[in-house]
Amino acid sequence: MTALVVGVDIGGTTTQVVLCAGDLTVADRLEVPTPAAEGGAAMVGAALDAVRLLLDRTPGRLLGVGVGAAGVVDARAGRVLVASDSFRGWAGFGVTAEVERALGVPAFLDNDVNAFLRGEAMAGAVAGEPDVLGMTLGTGVGGALWLNGALYDGPHGAAGEIGHVPGFGELPCTCGGRGHLETLASGRALAARYGERTGRAVSAREVAEAAGRGDADAVAVYEAAGAGVARAILVTAGLLDVTTFVIGGGVSRSWALIEPVIRRTLAAEPPVSGHPLRVLPAGLGGDAVAVGAAARVRAELDPHRATKGNGKVNEENQPSPTV
Ligand SMILES: [Zn+2]
Repeated sequence: MTALVVGVDIGGTTTQVVLCAGDLTVADRLEVPTPAAEGGAAMVGAALDAVRLLLDRTPGRLLGVGVGAAGVVDARAGRVLVASDSFRGWAGFGVTAEVERALGVPAFLDNDVNAFLRGEAMAGAVAGEPDVLGMTLGTGVGGALWLNGALYDGPHGAAGEIGHVPGFGELPCTCGGRGHLETLASGRALAARYGERTGRAVSAREVAEAAGRGDADAVAVYEAAGAGVARAILVTAGLLDVTTFVIGGGVSRSWALIEPVIRRTLAAEPPVSGHPLRVLPAGLGGDAVAVGAAARVRAELDPHRATKGNGKVNEENQPSPTV
């Protein structure tokens, strides 16, 4: 019987479920609506229905289930600690206990940004890299650190939170702070900054389309976002000597709009170490969080193998630097 692992990405609107082979290749996937207003049991129940459907389509021996969820989670206890207002009955919910009870296999819970980085570092754009900062430019700005081949979440679980340190201007942030990268580089911020310049209320996607047409205000908003991301990269490189960066989230799909300014800023202010910096867009697209959650299962059940990455990358076939 083929050994299978399942990864689940529970987002505010949709839940993505992937069925992976042992090497994290995605064999099948399903996307279902997240019943976020109906409580934790309904959300996990919707994911479990999708898992059962996938297992019917691809029979095998299920080794375990990894779940990535937005918000603050207790990754050891498998419980959600703090969730956004859009989720009802999610904070406090014991996710892994419910999955283990329903499926009879081990289950693990990760914060979605940590899962994103684990996915990219094990099977995505930075596969095989031992030291990486991951950033997600989505509704908010998330960050996570991969050091020495493993996630580093710090003594209080908040390491790598580059979206919420000061020094990126003066604008008020959604977290209550001021001058955070999130005020420049999240999808919500791009739309807000464009609205302030033009008086027009549009989505981040519409700002990207306007920038693509050469709209000067839209271009300026994306340039400020890219310059902020570059500053975050330089701070991280200077502090930790990390030289590889992977950027995901919806805003990163407009890579052509932010990549040139990131490259220019890094060239103008190279790190004192003199080591070149590699900045790559996410390679797993919408699967990254779910694949990373599945990778946690492999890491927990086979820790020696997991720290080696997927073994696909060597000196000869390193992905070429994008910046
Ligand atoms: Zn903030």
